[in-house]
Amino acid sequence: MVWMKFGIFGLGILLGSLLNSFISWWPHREEHGYGLQAACPHCGHPWRGFETIALWGRLFAQGRCRYCGDHVPLRYVLVEAATGLLLVLALGRAQGVLDMIRLGIFILLLVPLFFIDLKHHRLPNILTLPGIALGLLLSASLGQIKAAVLGALAGGGLLFIVAVITRGGLGMGDVKLQAMVGAFLGLQGMLVSLTIGIILGGVIGLILLALRLKGRKDMVPYGPFLITAALVVSLFLKTG
Ligand SMILES: [Zn+2]
Repeated sequence: MVWMKFGIFGLGILLGSLLNSFISWWPHREEHGYGLQAACPHCGHPWRGFETIALWGRLFAQGRCRYCGDHVPLRYVLVEAATGLLLVLALGRAQGVLDMIRLGIFILLLVPLFFIDLKHHRLPNILTLPGIALGLLLSASLGQIKAAVLGALAGGGLLFIVAVITRGGLGMGDVKLQAMVGAFLGLQGMLVSLTIGIILGGVIGLILLALRLKGRKDMVPYGPFLITAALVVSLFLKTG
């Protein structure tokens, strides 16, 4: 079991390095010629082999790009470590292979959504829309299609109403994200996750206001709170 965890952590680091390429590529997808290939964010030189693993670079190359000598951003290491760690937690939590695949794919969608929304205030359709379909498919394979469809409709529906009422205070990306959460977690899990997300967003919003890190009119993306809540529910809480 220890070796299994070790293997999953290693796999998570490799997948995390792919997610890093995606997170860097997506905001500039129209201007960059090198597509989804792993490349230095400073000089654009393509990375190969171990160069693409930021954790490896931190340990053995002082965390610098071999071509321009610039520091590889901390985010690269964070994404790899988080992906590895979350997959290990999923392994301890999953009930069977199919459930592990469901949790694993959910994590691999949520990690890039978290980091892209945090920085660019966007939740790419290229992740959320296939995410909804995959969530429904994987839930169906586990015999939970009814809960998943209800979860997706309720998650998307509730946030759509909020988005209309707040006139864009909440974006359509959040609507699709919460529909995806419902497709993966079912109705009950989605509702618990939404509640935690709202509380988390409220508390952290108040702290940011109190510390004057953000003003009343500043835009704070809601996705990272919804995503953190979805991870907490899928990895730590028992619902349904
Ligand atoms: Zn470089």
